Amino acid sequence: MLSYRHSFHAGNHADVLKHTVQALILESLKRKEKPFVAHDTHSGVGRYDLTSEHAEKTGEYVDGIGRLWGEDCPEELHPYLKAVKALNPSGNLRYYPGSPLLTRALIRDQDRMVLTELHPSDFPLLKQEFARDRRVRVYQEDGYARLKASLPPQERRGVVLIDPPYELKGEYQDLVKGVKQGIQRWATGTYAIWYPVVRRQEINRLEKALEASGIRKILQIELNVTGDTHEFGMTGSGMIVINPPWTLEQQMLKLLPWLTDKLAQDEQANFRVRWIVPE
Ligand code: SAM
Repeated sequence: MLSYRHSFHAGNHADVLKHTVQALILESLKRKEKPFVAHDTHSGVGRYDLTSEHAEKTGEYVDGIGRLWGEDCPEELHPYLKAVKALNPSGNLRYYPGSPLLTRALIRDQDRMVLTELHPSDFPLLKQEFARDRRVRVYQEDGYARLKASLPPQERRGVVLIDPPYELKGEYQDLVKGVKQGIQRWATGTYAIWYPVVRRQEINRLEKALEASGIRKILQIELNVTGDTHEFGMTGSGMIVINPPWTLEQQMLKLLPWLTDKLAQDEQANFRVRWIVPE
């Protein structure tokens, strides 16, 4: 039973971190003319209306993209903000691009996208959004099963975004299994995995499982808008990037002091950038 709906959370601080990292990875892939694939295992609907009942109910975007909108932001945020601005040409923040629309805003004619979304309400919206784009294939399938079937990609260059809802027991194990299978088929791809900071033990376990996997070059980027707490709720989020572009670590080290300050919800807000496994 799938109950998670991203429309309640679109544009929040976790989306800001995830989509900033995603945009920087795509920009770095564009440094070469050769085509690449952007594979999105958990796509959502693609486009979010921040005036919708869901978004208004939580108001999470106010403390995410809302804090950056109209501000003079560091250059590391420009590719991400370019995609958000493209959806809001009037200058008023109303629509927010989920990961598939963000990718579409940044890729070129020669590049390709593969999207999977399982939710019966979200899938038709996603399909419709990309109906006329010959670069995009959209599947209503399990994200990991489609990933396994699609690798290695013909281009041999690209990125896999893995952004599960973490609502079901076993999703962390599925993630590690999916990543291991992916690496077995395509060892040189970039894999960008999002995770929430809700229970620190789960993140520790995920880090240990990745460390034990034998996979190398695993970079962790985390932004916490408050200190860790035992109370329920997400206090931050992270991106684990396997085979990151060589520029990403420095870009995030440069950006995160500013971004953490901007998104902080208490004085314990913090960030970290570290290698779970180096080269
Ligand atoms: N990546 C999106 C973005 O950044 O805009 C948000 C994705 S949301 C966090 C997770 C999505 O995964 C939900 O829309 C959910 O319906 C979908 N989902 C859940 N289980 C799935 C599975 N096994 N395969 C594919 N999609 C799944």
